Amino acid sequence: MNFKVVGGGPAGLYFAYLMKRSHPDYTVRVVEQNPADATYGFGVVLSGRALSFLAAGDARAIERLSARMQSWSEQHIVHRGELVAIDGSSYAAIERLAMLHELQSLCREIGVKLEFNQRVESAADHSDCDVLVAADGANSALRDSYSLAFDTRVVELENYFAWYGVETPYAAHTLTFVQGEGGTYCAHHYRYAPDKSTFVAEVDAATWLSSGMSTMTDDERKGFMEQVFAHTLQGKPLISNRSFWRRWRLVTNGRWHHRNIVLIGDAQRSSHPSIGSGTRLAMEDAIALWRAFEADGNDIASAFRRYERERRPVRDKLNQAAEKSIAWYESMALKMLLSPCDFAYDYMLRTGVMTRERLAKESPEFMRRLARAESLT
Ligand SMILES: Cc1cc2nc3c(=O)[nH]c(=O)nc-3n(C[C@H](O)[C@H](O)[C@H](O)COP(=O)(O)OP(=O)(O)OC[C@H]3O[C@@H](n4cnc5c(N)ncnc54)[C@H](O)[C@@H]3O)c2cc1C
Repeated sequence: MNFKVVGGGPAGLYFAYLMKRSHPDYTVRVVEQNPADATYGFGVVLSGRALSFLAAGDARAIERLSARMQSWSEQHIVHRGELVAIDGSSYAAIERLAMLHELQSLCREIGVKLEFNQRVESAADHSDCDVLVAADGANSALRDSYSLAFDTRVVELENYFAWYGVETPYAAHTLTFVQGEGGTYCAHHYRYAPDKSTFVAEVDAATWLSSGMSTMTDDERKGFMEQVFAHTLQGKPLISNRSFWRRWRLVTNGRWHHRNIVLIGDAQRSSHPSIGSGTRLAMEDAIALWRAFEADGNDIASAFRRYERERRPVRDKLNQAAEKSIAWYESMALKMLLSPCDFAYDYMLRTGVMTRERLAKESPEFMRRLARAESLT
């Protein structure tokens, strides 16, 4: 069989690797618009649970990625300048480019053809393969060329954000909330290399207007964020890599396949970063599609149906959690009326997945601190 994968992000590369590893006789190619060593953003974070889910595809590949990761076992939430530590939260982060390089190496070692600097504009002339895998991200050109057939829906969320880097190595996955300078600000920051961290800044729609950010240039917004988060940045400047401010586009598709085209990763459903798992979900889609072909052999229609039937319920469940998380961030100004400990507790329970009982088991130190705070009020 002949597979053509458009998009050399985590979903496309992991799928190509899994497929070729199981079927050395198949032709598997990845077509990527960027050069091999270019990407957007800085580092991505994955939970410890996510890593074990991904190892279900190929444990050796995940071991190689894990060897390049920074890891920690706490989450920090900073509100009114007070740090609240949530123990028992296992996370790991990796530079996005390092992750892509490792996946590219895995692909090359087993004979996947990688073709860089080639942008695919539409799905029109792709009869040169049996299966066309659209792994070309949230703004997928392949998906958009059949948006009616895929029943594509796009919702623009309220908050604005930009993805920066900084040479401050933070001790843990941290969320810092700041009130002042005309509004409410949030930063998600975490170390992805010994001396570097990702720094995602986010503001709500009211702040976007009241702070004057709506009329600033992206350079001015970067300078403004350096002022707002001066204490958190510890004197270091923010680093840009095509770090423009935008609203998050939530993309969903009523159908995941059409003709010989199948959607995976962000092309299939863009994941909101506040549940921190876009990379994991994209790579799990790759595992699910590969498994479907393992079960159905070269019956493409059947493999596509199996992929959607088995994967959709999982995606839907996470989407419900993401919607609650999005609503929490859109109302963060109100949430910030809570004391630091109550605020952290509210944050941890925001998606409905975590419960008080589970927190007591997984984060006993935090819950003791919460109980002390509650007994004082
Ligand atoms: C601000 C921000 C923070 C994030 N933080 C995290 C995080 O902490 N943890 C996490 O797990 N995820 C995070 N994500 C999400 C994560 O980056 C994505 O969910 C994940 O990369 C999706 O993988 P993918 O392979 O589906 O798509 P992508 O990674 O977007 O890859 C798509 C690839 O396709 C290529 N491409 C696009 N169009 C074409 C075309 N027409 N022709 C050829 N090639 C094309 C692109 O160049 C790209 O290489 C974050 C995202 C953002 C924006």
